[in-house]
Amino acid sequence: MTTQADCIFCRIINGELGCDKLFEDDAVLAFRDLHPQAPLHGLVIPKRHIATLNDFADDDSALLGRLMQVARQIAAEHRLEGYRIAMNVNSLGGQVVFHAHLHILGGRQMKGLG
Ligand code: 5GP
Ligand code: ZN
Repeated sequence: MTTQADCIFCRIINGELGCDKLFEDDAVLAFRDLHPQAPLHGLVIPKRHIATLNDFADDDSALLGRLMQVARQIAAEHRLEGYRIAMNVNSLGGQVVFHAHLHILGGRQMKGLG
């Protein structure tokens, strides 16, 4: 597994930092966001360090799909009738942590995209 010592999400993956875990398998980890923007706010991340959506390789389609599947599963487990999936890409896209992640937000009415 490729992890980076200076990456906060890699440090969560390798157990150096704690998290409120929602899901884990060989390739994917999901945990609650530290600063939730909704009653359920999860982050779904690949265990391999990949900085942004743009850095997934062409043959990473299965991994990208798996992130979506995990998000959907978390939504089902939390009985979310509606929810939002978002991925910020690069600083201009609002990305702050450069280890790619899906946000899953639910448990309240979602409004426009900011
Ligand atoms: P971004 O803006 O990069 O798409 O989202 C990064 C998210 O990671 C933010 O919503 C922020 O609250 C969350 N976050 C940052 N540091 C930590 C942390 O150490 N633990 C957890 N659980 N979430 C974090
Ligand atoms: Zn990382």
